[in-house]
Amino acid sequence: TARKRFGQNFLHDHSIIYNILASAHPQTGEHWVEIGPGLGALTLPLLESGAKLDVVELDRDLVSRLQKQFAGHSNLTVHSADALNFDFAALAQAGEKLRIIGNLPYNISTPLMFHLLETTDCVEDMLFMLQKEVVDRICAEPGSKKYGRLSVMMQYYCETELLFDVPPESFDPIPQVMSAIVRLTPHAQPPVNIPDLKSFSQLVTQAFSQRRKTIRNSLKNFIAEQQIIDLGIDANLRAESISLAEFALLSAHSQANTTG
Ligand code: SAM
Repeated sequence: TARKRFGQNFLHDHSIIYNILASAHPQTGEHWVEIGPGLGALTLPLLESGAKLDVVELDRDLVSRLQKQFAGHSNLTVHSADALNFDFAALAQAGEKLRIIGNLPYNISTPLMFHLLETTDCVEDMLFMLQKEVVDRICAEPGSKKYGRLSVMMQYYCETELLFDVPPESFDPIPQVMSAIVRLTPHAQPPVNIPDLKSFSQLVTQAFSQRRKTIRNSLKNFIAEQQIIDLGIDANLRAESISLAEFALLSAHSQANTTG
C-alpha cells in the first residue's frame, strides 16, 4: 500500500541496507536524523547502534506505525512533519553536529537538499539515497555533460561523493530509475569566497539556462565581455567549462552584484 504522492518506495534488499549502514557507521553518542523512515528499513539498524535518533515522516499512518513498532526504544523521537519546512537546526544541542540520513522521496529531493543546506553549520554529514541521475549531477566536474547548477551549488556547500549504485529491484514497489547513495560533507570553510550568495545563484542559473551559449552571450546582462577577459577567463567558454572558483569571480564582478 505504498503511496505514490509521498514518493514511497521501500527498501527491502538486505545487502544494500547493510552497505548503507556500513557507510554511515552510526555510533553511541552520535545524534542522527532520518528523513522519511517509512517502514523503518534503516531506522531499526540506526537505533540498534545506540545513537540518538530523530526521524521525520510526513505520512501519518506510517508515523503511528513507527511509534508502535519502536515503542521500546528510548533513543528514538518520531516527528510527524514535512521535512521541507522542518527546523533541523532546532534538534542540535549547543555544539552538537547532526548526522543526517535518508532514502529521500525523489519528487522533493532537490528542494529538500537546498533546505538542509541552510543549516549546514550544525550538520556533520548527510547520506542520501537519490535518483542516480541526481547524484551524478551533484558530483559532476566541469567539462562533464552532467555538470550544472546543482553541481556548482552543492559543491560550494559540501564535499560530494558517490558511494554506490542501487538497482530498482532493491525496492518495493520497483521504481523506474536507478538510484545511488551520495555522501555530502559540509565544508569547514567555504572553498571560495562568495559575498552575495543570492546573486551568485542567479548568475549560475542564468549561465546554465542557456548552456549551449558562450558565457559572453549568456551572461551579458551580468558582466561585460571585457571584464570577463580581464578576470583571465575565456569568454568563449560555455557554462559547463566554468569552475566554481571562476563562477565566484564572475559573480563578484557582475553588475547585479555592484548595483545591489
Ligand atoms: N526510508 C524508507 C526505506 O528506505 O524503505 C522509506 C523511503 S521512501 C523512498 C520515502 C519516505 O519519505 C516515505 O516514507 C514517505 O512517506 C516519506 N516522505 C515523503 N515526503 C516527505 C516529506 N515531505 N517529509 C518527510 N517525509 C516524507
